[in-house]
Amino acid sequence: MTRCCNKTPIPAGGKARTCVRSVPMKIETQCLYAGYTPGNGQPQTLPIYQSTTFKYESTEQVSKLFDLQEAGFFYTRLGNPTVDAVEQKIATLEGGVGALCTASGQAANMLAVLNIASAGDHIVSSSNIYGGTLNLFAVTLKKLGIDVTFVDPEAQADEIQAAFRPNTRAMFGETIANPSIAVLDIEKFAAIAHTNGVPLIVDNTFATPVLCRPFEFGADIVTHSTTKYMDGHALQMGGVVVDSGNFDWTNGRFPEFTEPDESYHGTVYTRDFGNMAYIAKARVQLMRDMGVCQTPFGAFLINQGLETLPLRIERHSQNANTVAHWLARHDKVESVSYPTLENSPYRELAAKYLPKGCSGVISFVLKGGREAGARFIDSLKMASLLVHVADIRTCVLHPASSTHRQLNDEQLASAGISPGMVRLSVGIENIDDILADLDQALANA
Ligand code: PLP
Repeated sequence: MTRCCNKTPIPAGGKARTCVRSVPMKIETQCLYAGYTPGNGQPQTLPIYQSTTFKYESTEQVSKLFDLQEAGFFYTRLGNPTVDAVEQKIATLEGGVGALCTASGQAANMLAVLNIASAGDHIVSSSNIYGGTLNLFAVTLKKLGIDVTFVDPEAQADEIQAAFRPNTRAMFGETIANPSIAVLDIEKFAAIAHTNGVPLIVDNTFATPVLCRPFEFGADIVTHSTTKYMDGHALQMGGVVVDSGNFDWTNGRFPEFTEPDESYHGTVYTRDFGNMAYIAKARVQLMRDMGVCQTPFGAFLINQGLETLPLRIERHSQNANTVAHWLARHDKVESVSYPTLENSPYRELAAKYLPKGCSGVISFVLKGGREAGARFIDSLKMASLLVHVADIRTCVLHPASSTHRQLNDEQLASAGISPGMVRLSVGIENIDDILADLDQALANA
């Protein structure tokens, strides 16, 4: 059994900084051991290095750290041993070469795109994505001069192809879309992206690497809101960007990777960092400048969540599958969206990409529309109404009046949301208690 070893100095922002050793263990075991291996007499659990900075004895060494010529932590914004261990663990779980933890999922998606695209560039995104990401792309990136074309992910490849332009720099989608629970055809998206010489970024938040590893289907970059299942206990905001190490940044479309970065003394990312060029650049350039870093204590909490992720996601998926079938038979329910349902348009895609389960998130529409949805939510006794999803406790939300309230009806429709849709995040409670709560609330809906 090989494990990641943290005895080798782990350089923050240095050339070997994002190296992740391959760990030939099953994912359940990786969740426990990857990223941190205590030496003789060291703490069994991941220590919290609660320090903003790290002491050195020579100015020459500090200069080398700043020039990325030597390995070592020097400032927590750029790297910290606790955060580093979690980055190594998540990179291992996804099968990538390196990862960068961020302050939130929003920050992860922002950095994932800004690391590739700048003013004058363009990206193509699935329209069926989380409302916060949609706003980031449609409003904030637009203000920064990055144009986004949203495509229907179900469209034929030639229709999607038509959205590409000479200045397109990336393609984006979510493995399981929030909140419509649509499953992305990752291989189709990857093929289209690669035909156009650009990487595919996949937000794998709902699936987690336990249920789907998008790199195995051709994705180049994976992002997560670790706030969701990775933490899983509603404790800590966070995000992560993971690099597969597979994309060829020297194909002529990405001069920022192949030409000297004057803000780093002429570093050429592809030359100096090889297949870790993307994640190294994200850290030393964007994290340096934007500062959206994870904290050591935050990383510790995320690590706690990661240790039990496989057990939790299995139970979430089992419970959600039962609830989805139960709701589908209920006479007050108009429609239910969950990929394992017999009438789900995503059944085949789920069988291919999510054979172990489809996570705990379900969306459904009540026959009484928006008003019935509100009555149902207000009548729940155990499940909580809150702006969150993917928690161990069952929770609900009405997307049209909360997470997606900035969207107009047309945008709502293209994000797969009807005004009466309820998003139910099924927890890990006993299934009988979940069904009993839903049953009494539906009686009032
Ligand atoms: N991506 C997905 C799929 C999400 O569901 C969310 C939040 O719900 C985000 C990104 C943003 O993550 P955060 O809330 O951690 O900023």
